[in-house]
Amino acid sequence: MRYQKEVMLHSRWDVIVCGAGPSGIAAAVSAARLGVQVMLLERYGTVGGCLTLGNVTTVMGSVARGSIRDEIARLLVSPDSSTGIDGEEAKGRLAEFLSREGVNFRLQAPVVDVWMEKETIRGVYVLTPNGIVLMEAKRVIDATGDGYVAAMAGCEVMVGRDEDGLVQPSSLMYTIDGVKSTLTCCHEEHYTYFSDGREYLDLCKKAAAEGRLPSNVTIVRLYKTGRQGERLVNATQMNGVNALTDGDIEKSEIELRKQINRINRFLQEEIPGFENIRVRTSASTLGVRESRRIRGRYLLEAEDLIKGRRFEDVVVHHANFSIDIHNPTGGGQSETLGCPHKAQPYDIPMRALQPLNAENLILSGRCISGSHRAHASYRVMNIVMAIGQAAGTMAAVSVQDDCDISELKYHHVKNALIAQGCRLFDY
Ligand SMILES: Cc1cc2nc3c(=O)[nH]c(=O)nc-3n(C[C@H](O)[C@H](O)[C@H](O)COP(=O)(O)OP(=O)(O)OC[C@H]3O[C@@H](n4cnc5c(N)ncnc54)[C@H](O)[C@@H]3O)c2cc1C
Repeated sequence: MRYQKEVMLHSRWDVIVCGAGPSGIAAAVSAARLGVQVMLLERYGTVGGCLTLGNVTTVMGSVARGSIRDEIARLLVSPDSSTGIDGEEAKGRLAEFLSREGVNFRLQAPVVDVWMEKETIRGVYVLTPNGIVLMEAKRVIDATGDGYVAAMAGCEVMVGRDEDGLVQPSSLMYTIDGVKSTLTCCHEEHYTYFSDGREYLDLCKKAAAEGRLPSNVTIVRLYKTGRQGERLVNATQMNGVNALTDGDIEKSEIELRKQINRINRFLQEEIPGFENIRVRTSASTLGVRESRRIRGRYLLEAEDLIKGRRFEDVVVHHANFSIDIHNPTGGGQSETLGCPHKAQPYDIPMRALQPLNAENLILSGRCISGSHRAHASYRVMNIVMAIGQAAGTMAAVSVQDDCDISELKYHHVKNALIAQGCRLFDY
C-alpha cells in the first residue's frame, strides 16, 4: 500500500478513547457495555500502559466494590498466584478482554493531533502505517496519562508543585530472579533485620550515602511477584527531569539502565540470598509518575482526601491511597519523614473529569483535575480504573442524551454507574 500524504477520513465513532492504560481500558469497556461504538487508540504495540509496558504490576489503592476494577483484578491475578500480577500474561489477557467486550482497538496508533471546531473536538488525527488518518468522534476521552489530547485541544495544563513546578521522579521498574531469601520491602517503614542485626533500609541509606547506590536511591523496594525467587524492583529514580521536556526521556533511559546495574551489584554484594540474581524483565518505556494535570470544573485538593470529603456529583466512591509523593529533589518521600500522609476514603466528583473549554472531552486516569498533592494519591491503578469507568460512562450517557460534557445530568451518570454495580454512597 502506498503511503498516503493527504489526511483521509478513516472512520466515525461515538466515543474515541485515547490511551489503553488501566484507565483507558476501563473507560472503553464501560462505554461499550452501554451500547455505544467505541474506538480505543494506543500509541504502543501492547495494551496496559504502566501496568504492562511500565512493568508496574503492583496494583495499589482501593475504591468501593462493584466496579470494572474488580473484574480486571480477577482477570489479572492468576488463581495459582498468591500475590502479584504477571505483567507478561496481563498483555494478552487485557487485549482479549477488550475484544470480548466488543471494543475496537488499534495498536501502534498514536494520536498526533485533534481537529477542533471552536471548543469541540470533531476528530483525532492518528498515525497509521499508511499515513495520518482522521477518526471522527462524538466524544473523546483523554486517557493518555500525559494529558496529550487535552493539551492539543488547548485546555489549561498544570505541571508539578505550585512553588517550583517540579514533578515526582521517573523510574524504570524491573524484575529480578534467582532470589534465595524471603526479603521484601514494600515501603519506607518496612523494617527487616538480618541474623547479624543489620537492618535492610539502613543498609540502603548507608549505601546511598557512601556512593554504592546512586545518592537519590535511598530505598530499594522489593515486591513479591507470585513467581518463586522473583522480585519486582521499584528503586531506580531520576530527579529533575520532566517527560514533557525534549531530551529528558532519553537522558533518563541512559541513566536508569545504568542504575539497574548498580542496584543489582549492591543487592548481590550486600544482601544475603541475592548473590545470584539477574534481570528477568524491565519496563519498555520510562515510568512517568507525574506530568500534565488538566484543569477541570473542580480541582481535587489534598485536603479533600485527608478529610475524606464527599461530593454530590460523586463518580468514584471510597477511593483510598496515601499521598505518596516520591521526592522530586532526592531520595524518599517529599513530605513527612518516613511514611506518606494518610488519606481517608474520599470521593472523586464528576466535575474533576470535565475539562474547561472543551465541550466533548472527558479526562480519565492520572491527568484529571487535581493538585500535585492530590494526584499523588489518585494516580494509583485501582483508582484510575474506577475513574476510567466513570469517564466511559459519562461519554456514553452524553452520546445517548445528546448533550455536551459540561451539560451532563449527574443523575443520569449516577444511575448508569449504579446499574453497572458501582457503589457511590454509604448506605
Ligand atoms: C515508576 C512507577 C511506579 C508506580 N508504582 C505504582 C504501584 O506500585 N501501584 C500502583 O497502583 N500504581 C503505581 N504507579 C502509578 C500508575 O501506574 C499510573 O499512575 C497509572 O498506570 C496511570 O494510568 P493511566 O491509564 O492514567 O495512564 P498510563 O498507565 O500511563 O496509560 C496511558 C496510555 O496512553 C498511551 N498514550 C499516551 N499518549 C498517547 C497518544 N498520543 N496516543 C495514543 N496512546 C497514547 C500510553 O502509551 C499508555 O499506554 C506507578 C507509576 C510509575 C511510573
